[in-house]
Amino acid sequence: MLSSLLRTIEQGFGPLLSSAGDIAFLLGLLMLVYVILAPSIRILVEMQAANIGIEREWIMHCMSCRRMTVVAGSECEHCGHNLGIPWAVRLRQFFSRGGEPRWLEVTRWIYTSLGVIAFTLITVVALGVSGAWNPQSHIEKLFVGLSLLTWAGLGWLLGRVFGIGTGGPISRVRDTVFSLALAALLLTTTTLASAARPVEEAVVAQVRVDGQVAQLGSRATALVGYQLGLEYLHVEHAFAGFRHATPLAIIGTRRLELPLGERQSDVVDFLWKHSVALTERGLAVRKRTDQFMVAESGIYEIVLRGDKLSIRRFASPS
Ligand SMILES: [Zn+2]
Repeated sequence: MLSSLLRTIEQGFGPLLSSAGDIAFLLGLLMLVYVILAPSIRILVEMQAANIGIEREWIMHCMSCRRMTVVAGSECEHCGHNLGIPWAVRLRQFFSRGGEPRWLEVTRWIYTSLGVIAFTLITVVALGVSGAWNPQSHIEKLFVGLSLLTWAGLGWLLGRVFGIGTGGPISRVRDTVFSLALAALLLTTTTLASAARPVEEAVVAQVRVDGQVAQLGSRATALVGYQLGLEYLHVEHAFAGFRHATPLAIIGTRRLELPLGERQSDVVDFLWKHSVALTERGLAVRKRTDQFMVAESGIYEIVLRGDKLSIRRFASPS
């Protein structure tokens, strides 16, 4: 429903969406690069500054001796005159960086680096696994671009919410509220991006049907009532919206296994072996068999679109 609506929009606004998609994607990437590079560069500069002994301190004019003094305590470092700093200002100095002890500075560097690395890893894995790195249509590119922008903004805000020395309690509450809003927006844009992605079609195998006999490669099985069964492993996480099907076998009076790659076969074995435990945790793993009518003799293709298996006539028998 959503997919077909998006496809209609794509057809109607093709050229317009093309440039909008390119711009959004580019902006999203630039924002991501900024969110990753900016704190990294800041840490490098701070490390260099710390190496040559530059420190950040609050300074002020002493009203008594008229000289610049570093605000280390409540008195002027030159004449010992009381500087008269109000407690609210002291509190602000405590929360804002300045005169930060060395151990806290080093902790902040490590902590920030870990955050940036985690953010980068999540971004790369999510882009790779979802295929968003390589959008298949203009409208998908647009929503992927918007998702990247939102994700970059979310990363930046989370850095402020959880960072060391990135603000007082009130600004953290404010940034948390903005983060939640961005998370909701991100969920929307990623949902739209995945709905806009054209479903890929893969031909799993060819089956030759001759009367009541189905032949898969060199193996054959008899059919009953021209009925061909396709067995597949179906994995579904309803909440995350994840669905995946792996074709396993064709079923007549005998079960003929479809060829699987070694790794694919290991994954299927693992999922099936742990299906009860996985299902209890929300990842429904089950084997299903769909039955298809193959009354006409000929060659049929088994087709996988998304998580749906189907068959279609490929050619008449020669
Ligand atoms: Zn003084």
